[in-house]
Amino acid sequence: AKRGSGRGKAHFFSAAHQSAILQNIAIEHALINGNLEDELYLEFQPIVEAGNGLPMGFEALARWRSPTLGQISPGLFIPVAERAGLISKLTRLLLTKALHQAGAWPAPLRLSFNLSVHDLSIADGLLPLISIITASGFDPRRLDLEITETAMMRDFAQVTQAIDTLKSLGVGISLDDFGTGYSSLTQVHRLPLDKIKIDRSFVVDIDKNPASHKIVKSLVALCRDMDLSCVVEGVETEEELKVLRELGCDLIQGFYFARPLSVDSIAGFLAGPERIRA
Ligand code: C2E
Ligand code: MG
Ligand code: MG
Ligand code: MG
Repeated sequence: AKRGSGRGKAHFFSAAHQSAILQNIAIEHALINGNLEDELYLEFQPIVEAGNGLPMGFEALARWRSPTLGQISPGLFIPVAERAGLISKLTRLLLTKALHQAGAWPAPLRLSFNLSVHDLSIADGLLPLISIITASGFDPRRLDLEITETAMMRDFAQVTQAIDTLKSLGVGISLDDFGTGYSSLTQVHRLPLDKIKIDRSFVVDIDKNPASHKIVKSLVALCRDMDLSCVVEGVETEEELKVLRELGCDLIQGFYFARPLSVDSIAGFLAGPERIRA
């Protein structure tokens, strides 16, 4: 932001910060007053095998079209919903839709769904989710629940208990955005995880950046040692993919293979993924 307009430097909030606050207030207002059942929907991004590009499943990504604010990205509205105490409502609505839509996919395709840390509080978060999963008829063994590293570390004891409960249903647990938080390897080791998703920040320019290359190499080795499967997020170029294949990554998610797809375009993707990739 441009400074030095002569109005003094003692503003408590910068103009940019102030407009972010106003934006968040507008988002909260629209979340409270909107008809979320109609306005919220999902896109599904393929997660493919690194070797042959075949999809093993899709990650559900929340989308919101507000009649007053327009299209708002989840990076903006999910944090607002969390702070405003609205996230459990959103999660319930989105999980119900995701399981219903994934019910149309042929087995063994999997559904990945993002949870927020508030969804893991035993009484008001977790129990309703378990009912939704059970009532959906979707095989819980084909469901992966993604929890970010930051969320996991916020309340380790509670999160571990929630994960144990979820795992007893047969669902898989993925550690999302791995590498961006501050978890120690000892803590990760103690969690009953099935998958680790290596954050996109380590993949950008991996073909040109030796530091990223070393980090991803050791994360992939770590996954192998711990017997976890590993997904690399945010792969955009053929060069990045080539390096990741050499490093022995199992699974890839990124614009190179496919962008998040509308529910209506999934059947077409499954019939011929290369048409979308082209
Ligand atoms: P995430 O779970 O790490 O999801 C991956 C994000 O990376 C998605 O952004 C996806 O569109 C984006 N992405 C995938 N491949 C590429 C690529 O090759 N290049 C680039 N530049 N980006 C790529 P999106 O959909 O904007 O979601 C952002 C975040 O919002 C998600 O990050 C997740 O933390 C959160 N989120 C999305 N849907 C939900 C939801 O239903 N519930 C909760 N609690 N959080 C959600
Ligand atoms: Mg995710
Ligand atoms: Mg992620
Ligand atoms: Mg991410």
